[in-house]
Amino acid sequence: MGFVNGEVSSMKKPSIDVFEYTGQFKRVLCVVAHPDDIDFGASGTIAYLTSQGCEVAYVMVTSGDAGGDDSKLTRRQRAAVRENEQRKAAQAVGVKAVAFLGYRDGLVESNLKLRKEIAQKIRAFKPDLVITQNPERNWERIYASHPDHMAVGDAAIKAVYPDARNPHAFPRLMKNGYVPHTVPEVWVTGSEPNLAVDITKFFSYKVSALREHASQIGDGEGLEDRLKSWAESNAEAAGMKKNRLAESFRRMETR
Ligand SMILES: [Zn+2]
Repeated sequence: MGFVNGEVSSMKKPSIDVFEYTGQFKRVLCVVAHPDDIDFGASGTIAYLTSQGCEVAYVMVTSGDAGGDDSKLTRRQRAAVRENEQRKAAQAVGVKAVAFLGYRDGLVESNLKLRKEIAQKIRAFKPDLVITQNPERNWERIYASHPDHMAVGDAAIKAVYPDARNPHAFPRLMKNGYVPHTVPEVWVTGSEPNLAVDITKFFSYKVSALREHASQIGDGEGLEDRLKSWAESNAEAAGMKKNRLAESFRRMETR
């Protein structure tokens, strides 16, 4: 079973485990490029985890100032609208802490400055799990591979290992009291999954969270059906019972 060295040429897909929360983690940090990314990819899972008492925080690398069609707004005004939408969407799934790093939408690069800022957030929040985006191109679906998503996924994983845990990485962080922290596990959205989370009971929270992004979804017509069909195919791929809904991730242990 699974994806082991030597089986690559036979094109076997990794098997998909179905996640069950048993207290494995208490603190979850989500690091994504734009407002709404986490809601499309993982807000059903977030609702599940917060319902179990997990504390979840979001880091948004940009404020989505290049998204949507309303050209009447300035970049700053659009950023303010989208930050507000994201705060409300976070509340809809039990998340209170939302930080915006203020990078320009569309211009994000995975560089040392971004790695340092994410490492600082990790050392400050001390998560047991980081959820981020896929740093690799998804050849099936171009929307998953927005350059900002790939850059943020790459920087976040490098911040998990080695930056956040290595006392010699970014020594100013230590000087400012941010002691090293090891994040034991990372989940990546928009990737070849090996983990599915049953969100059937939390699907309505996901829909509510996405409806908060009014500047992006317009009147939201067809949104729920679209979300449902994605979630059904995730569940089916994981071998779950009919009519179940799931979000899926690539899970990686990091120690
Ligand atoms: Zn995005």
